[in-house]
Amino acid sequence: MSRRITIVGAGQSGLQLGLGLLAQGFEVRLISNRTPDDIRSGRVASSQCMFHTPLQYEAAVGADLWPDAPPVEGVGLAVPNPEAPGEKLLGWTGRLDAPAQSVDQRLKFPALIELFEKRGGELVFEDAGIDDLERYTSEDELVLVAAGKGEIARLFERDAARSTFDAPQRALALTYVHGLTPDADLPKVAFNLIPGVGEYFVFPALTLSGPCHIMVFEGIPGGPMDRFAGAGGAAEHFEISKDILKTFLPWEHARAADASLTDELGVLQGRFAPTVRKPLVTLPSGRTVLGMADVVVLNDPITGQGSNNASRCAQSYLSSIVEQGDGEYDDAWKEQVFERYWTVAEPVVTWTNAFLVPPPPHLLNVLGAASQFPPIADRFANGFDDPSDFGSWFLDPEGSERYIAGVAAGAGV
Ligand SMILES: Cc1cc2nc3c(=O)[nH]c(=O)nc-3n(C[C@H](O)[C@H](O)[C@H](O)COP(=O)(O)OP(=O)(O)OC[C@H]3O[C@@H](n4cnc5c(N)ncnc54)[C@H](O)[C@@H]3O)c2cc1C
Repeated sequence: MSRRITIVGAGQSGLQLGLGLLAQGFEVRLISNRTPDDIRSGRVASSQCMFHTPLQYEAAVGADLWPDAPPVEGVGLAVPNPEAPGEKLLGWTGRLDAPAQSVDQRLKFPALIELFEKRGGELVFEDAGIDDLERYTSEDELVLVAAGKGEIARLFERDAARSTFDAPQRALALTYVHGLTPDADLPKVAFNLIPGVGEYFVFPALTLSGPCHIMVFEGIPGGPMDRFAGAGGAAEHFEISKDILKTFLPWEHARAADASLTDELGVLQGRFAPTVRKPLVTLPSGRTVLGMADVVVLNDPITGQGSNNASRCAQSYLSSIVEQGDGEYDDAWKEQVFERYWTVAEPVVTWTNAFLVPPPPHLLNVLGAASQFPPIADRFANGFDDPSDFGSWFLDPEGSERYIAGVAAGAGV
């Protein structure tokens, strides 16, 4: 008889793992507090740009339904010149080895929920609470909580040793638009870093009404980019978006001259503290549930890694579950499942958190050197697909010096 697993949350990680388990012959029950129609007619939740390897994990479970979504072929960096307003201090683009893509979760999740049902998965629409977790654990051998930033995630205790921050580091805002002028060189994540103010990045994506661009604002709390909380509605949110660009990034403001909002719900603002949580919750009965993706490792979106991590987590958990065969899903095993994923997630957390604090001198050197040496820019871009690469050069003062010197010598400089 096949084993049945319950997953709470039909988002990036829950859907991908659910589809993967079905393909491996497991019975899967997926709990969702939103119907496909709720999601389709709801508000945007993310900018969800996914890089090559996580896209391959999706493809392996048949979740690659949007081959024609606008490709993202590079990652660019621009820094305004504080001494010459309107001009760039730095500006370069790194090329990705394989394209990334962003498909609006309002388009993606309903389609994958329908695919999950078509493939024989059981779908239950309810907002799971503790009593429901008790019921699922009494019925099934393994219960996973993949509820993202849902209330239920708060059942999982914050891991103080692994969490760097206890307060939000950025005020976040999303603005989905049609009609933005395409990038001049190649379609890319155009990342703009405004020291002391925050970051702005923008890239092509696919939304309900077709190809679009997603503007992401990461304002330092209390600073001049932290303006969206008071917006009266979508139109005002859009005006604030353009006004910020006009003030700090005139080259991005020019691209938005003919832009219009994709829809009234194509805007979002909020803030949260990046948090790592303990992977298990013990219910009053003594039985346990295991958390996954954002529930246990919640990063600031500054490096655009949440959906990528959710995919990496689903892939890692799938391997652990399949490899366990007929073995018991006891607590020691559940802890190991998380620790295996943590080896993948930790470098992402370290790198992402490095962007949330003022950059040390060696990091500025690397960003400067990338404008002189394209291989450095390319390596930076491809690190978004594999952030474990950053440890030995980008984040390490001596490693970065050695690396830059090596690239310079190779270029005959
Ligand atoms: C502003 C912003 C920009 C972002 N940009 C990017 C980006 O460019 N690239 C990137 O990779 N990531 C990005 N992310 C993050 C990314 O979207 C998330 O990290 C990712 O979706 C997390 O996947 P998940 O499976 O953990 O949860 P989710 O995809 O959030 O899914 C959780 C699901 O669980 C459901 N749920 C919640 N509680 C319950 C309950 N009690 N019972 C039943 N169902 C429940 C929810 O309705 C939801 O559908 C961004 C996030 C934000 C906020």
